Amino acid sequence: MAQFEPVLTRNWNVENGHTLRVYEARGGYQAARKALTTMSPDDVVNLVKASELRGRGGAGFPTGLKWSFLPKDRTETLMCVNGDESEPATFNNRLLIERDPHQFLEGILISCFATRATTAYVYLRFEYIAGYKMMERAIAEAEAAGHLGRNIYGSGFDLKVVLHRGAGAYICGEETGLIESLEGKRGWPRIKPPFPAVEGAFRKPTVVNNVETLCCVPHIVERGADWFKSIGTPKSYGPKLYCVSGHVNKQVCVELPLGVTTRQLIEEHAGGVWKGRKAKAAVPGGISMGLLAESEFDVPLDFEALRPTGCLGLGTAAVTVLDETMPIIDYLAICARFFAHESCGQCTPCREGTNWLNKTIHRIKNGGGRLEDLDILEQLSQNMGITPGTTICGLADGAAWPVKNALAKFRGELEEYIRTHQNPASLPTPLQTAIAQ
Ligand code: NAD
Ligand code: SF4
Repeated sequence: MAQFEPVLTRNWNVENGHTLRVYEARGGYQAARKALTTMSPDDVVNLVKASELRGRGGAGFPTGLKWSFLPKDRTETLMCVNGDESEPATFNNRLLIERDPHQFLEGILISCFATRATTAYVYLRFEYIAGYKMMERAIAEAEAAGHLGRNIYGSGFDLKVVLHRGAGAYICGEETGLIESLEGKRGWPRIKPPFPAVEGAFRKPTVVNNVETLCCVPHIVERGADWFKSIGTPKSYGPKLYCVSGHVNKQVCVELPLGVTTRQLIEEHAGGVWKGRKAKAAVPGGISMGLLAESEFDVPLDFEALRPTGCLGLGTAAVTVLDETMPIIDYLAICARFFAHESCGQCTPCREGTNWLNKTIHRIKNGGGRLEDLDILEQLSQNMGITPGTTICGLADGAAWPVKNALAKFRGELEEYIRTHQNPASLPTPLQTAIAQ
């Protein structure tokens, strides 16, 4: 791969790179000045559309297209920035916020100008205390310097940025759960449509974007759509922050062009698999995405190539490596416990399904598994949201996918585990068997 010049992380290792003084000295806020004083909001929307920037939060939805869904006749627009970042092993947004808060604010400013949003709510994960403090300071600096507030750069555009601490729940990262939580209610996702672009926070048209997505915007304004599209693969453009964790020697967050492979991440950036072992599998981008077997480690981690492997997609690009000694049932047990705990409980297939997955997987793990349990898990995961529209949000689908995917790729290992790990005390009672059937 040709030498890649960092874009989103270029200030990370610069002394005091998080301060306004250093950020401005390195060209910061020039893109915002250019957008607000020489471009119209539609010009910016069209530029972002032309760049084909896709959302970095997990779904990969085209950003410019999302902005164009806002009603043309709206009188007020709000922005909600999704900094909830609760996907396990995902920490790219935390670092973007803590290490370069002004890049993030500049992205918010340009994106609010483009969408005519005059208030931006930055919804930060509850646990991100350092990021919250960093943002408080950066907002104060930007306001004092005229980058936020009234009539910014004499353009007539006003913007207020409001920080909001999250509620410590995974579901508050789902955009409508986030909006409900922001409004002071329980973070229960809403039925869509209406999508937030039409009816979002406080029932107003609302743009919801992820932190990393917004951080890309100043660079697109500064260097153009063609430059952005020159990075990455023929269909997935731009720089991307990849988090690597799990059974590696060095846990890292590294910025690379979209399309790097799992093998490159492990070998070139994470110091290899730990303890001199081999890898068995890796989660490509958050646990909802499924599992890549080691033989699939050369598949590019981009928006296109993962689907044919049976994984849901790139997700958050947070790669978690499982070494050869990690039983797949242990990995499934971690996922199942997480989703059963985080389901908000509104939809029956999700509330009951995550609970049954958790119980069945833990029973297998504890030595009470029967071979037919694998078929039960398959049916259960099939019924939990693979059929679109049976649940309000994607959590049920995300909980079922790792199970379906592991069954497809590691069924032999799971069968072997059931055969060789028998603990009669953990087998289901006749009554439990009857209920399950
Ligand atoms: P989605 O595909 O339903 O929606 C993507 C975005 O496009 C949303 O903002 C939605 O409002 C918008 N959209 C889609 N169709 C639209 C339409 N017709 N009109 C207007 N707007 C429209 O996905 P999602 O449920 O928002 O996100 C799911 C992803 O979130 C998962 O793939 C997962 O990777 C990711 N995720 C990330 C984290 C994290 O910590 N970053 C945590 C959990 C999940
Ligand atoms: Fe809640 Fe699950 Fe329904 Fe999402 S799918 S709204 S998390 S019950």
